[in-house]
Amino acid sequence: MSKSSVKILGYGVDGFDMEQALEFAQDNGGQVVTINPEMILAAQKSPEFSQIINDAELVIPDGVGVQIGLKILGHKVNRIPGIEFGYSLLQNCAKNNKPVALVGAKPEVIELAQKNLKNDIPNLNIVYAHDGYFSDDEAVIKDIIDAKPELVLVALGSPKQEFFIKKLKPSLPDAIMVGLGGSFDVWAGVVKRAPKLYQKLGIEWLYRTIKEPQRIKRIFPTLPLFLLKVLNEKMLRG
Ligand code: UDP
Repeated sequence: MSKSSVKILGYGVDGFDMEQALEFAQDNGGQVVTINPEMILAAQKSPEFSQIINDAELVIPDGVGVQIGLKILGHKVNRIPGIEFGYSLLQNCAKNNKPVALVGAKPEVIELAQKNLKNDIPNLNIVYAHDGYFSDDEAVIKDIIDAKPELVLVALGSPKQEFFIKKLKPSLPDAIMVGLGGSFDVWAGVVKRAPKLYQKLGIEWLYRTIKEPQRIKRIFPTLPLFLLKVLNEKMLRG
C-alpha cells in the first residue's frame, strides 16, 4: 500500500484511515508517531525531534488539532486516536501469536495495565514490560532486544518516547514501535477516557482539561499558536 502524505508546518502526516494505517504498520514495521499540535510546536524548536518525525515510517493524526490544521490547508484526513490504534495492534498480535513489549508509566500502572490487557485480549503474549521511570536507557533497550518483540508500545510522554524509539529501532528493524502518551494509564483504569460523545466530536482534550485543570497551561498557549501558524502558512501558500 502506498502512502499519501500531506504537509503541515513542514511535517508530513499520512492520510490513512484506521484500517489502512494498521495494515501499513503491520506490513512495514518501523516507528509510528501519533502526532498532535504540541509535538509539532516542540519539533519546530528541535532539529533532532524534527528529524525523528521526518524519519518515522508512519505519522498519524492523533487528535482533532492536527485534523483542523490540515482542513485549514485544504486537506481532509481521518483522526486516528493512538490509544485505539495501539489497542488494535495488540489484538492483532494476539491473534497472530506475535510477542509484544510495553514500556512506560508508573510501576503500579504498568502492572495493572498488563493485567487488564491480558484479561481483555485472549492469547496476548507480553514478553517484556517495564515502567517508564528508568535512567539507564541502554539496559532497558538491551532487555527489549533480547525479548524479541514484534510490537513495542512506548508510553513515556512526548518527545521522550519518540527519542527512545529512535534509539531502539535499528536493533529491531522489523518490529512496529508506537509512542502512546498516557494510554497505559487508561488501560490500567487509573485515568478514564472521555465519554463517547466527546470522542466522537474529537474534543477529548476538552474533557481532560475539565478533569485535570492544570492541563490548561499546556493546551491553552499551544492550540491557538498552532492554528495561527497554520493560518500563516496558508497565507504564504496563497
Ligand atoms: N511517563 C513515564 N516516564 C517519564 C515521564 C512520563 O513513563 O519519565 C509516563 C507517565 O506516567 C504517563 C505517560 O508517560 O503514563 C504520559 O504522560 P503525559 O500525560 O505527560 O503525556 P501525554 O499523554 O500528555 O503526551
